[in-house]
Amino acid sequence: MAVNLYWMHCGGCGGDSMSMLNAESPNIIETIHELDINVLWHPSFSFAPPADHRRLLDALISREVGLDILCIEGAVIRGPENTGMFGIFEGKPKKNLVAQLADRAGIVIAIGTCASFGGVTGAGATDAVGLQFSKKDIGGFLGKNFRSGKGLPVINLPGCPVHPTVLMGMLTAAARGVSMDLNTYNAPLEYYSMLVHQGCTRNEYHEYRIEETDFGQKGCLFFHLGCQGPLAHAPCNKFLWNNRNCKTRSGVPCNGCTEPDFPRDDPYFYTPNIVGLPIHLPDGVNRPHYLAYKSMAAAAAPDRLKHRKTEV
Ligand code: SF4
Repeated sequence: MAVNLYWMHCGGCGGDSMSMLNAESPNIIETIHELDINVLWHPSFSFAPPADHRRLLDALISREVGLDILCIEGAVIRGPENTGMFGIFEGKPKKNLVAQLADRAGIVIAIGTCASFGGVTGAGATDAVGLQFSKKDIGGFLGKNFRSGKGLPVINLPGCPVHPTVLMGMLTAAARGVSMDLNTYNAPLEYYSMLVHQGCTRNEYHEYRIEETDFGQKGCLFFHLGCQGPLAHAPCNKFLWNNRNCKTRSGVPCNGCTEPDFPRDDPYFYTPNIVGLPIHLPDGVNRPHYLAYKSMAAAAAPDRLKHRKTEV
């Protein structure tokens, strides 16, 4: 039996839809066909006239047409002064439509960091929040007690944008009715239990504290260039982007875009530090032990690493 999916775009750049198009194996067309997903609407790829779209929405709201999966891309805009008029649909606040559709959906998926936590949109003047979180705080637009028709909280797929493999995997699970264990921020552990640091090709440099102060070098980017890999939960070094690369592999620090506090207040491409030692250490480490280990590791660094003689 076909599974109905409605995709709604709120406050965001549309990058998650672009990322969706980058899925390769399977790609989005294969996924839809294989899982018998009936895409009722996608703001970029549907071509029904506005009147037909309105009829569809009426049918969804009246429950004449069932809504199995609701995908929301972008943060929910509440401003100014909670009117929602900074983000409208047919001249009315789009946030009202979000609430109506979420109430009818079997499962609600927040696509990307803006929809999950507010993200870049939430950092602006639009009073935008995630569907069920505002940064690290549970609640967001729908409230902490929200549960979809299947009794689930909003499933968050953070990332700026979300990784296409993660999106295809979640759509597959939702369409097949497979439940996924979630982390503290309601993101599937299947994809968000590991750190970007795990699997980074610069790990051996990190191990011996061979740290770069400039871009384009081979060493680790943590101590000076603001890499968030040891703090960011995402599979970017497990599922490569375009099956080929990721930020740290191409010499750019991870900016932690899957974390609830993204974009964080600290400057980018810079590691806040005290006398050269990072203020924010890898997730869960003991500070005195870590710093003692790093001093010893730097002294033990092999020459081939000091002279950058390994490939990354
Ligand atoms: S570049 Fe970043 S992710 Fe890679 S080893 Fe260094 S800290 Fe970890």
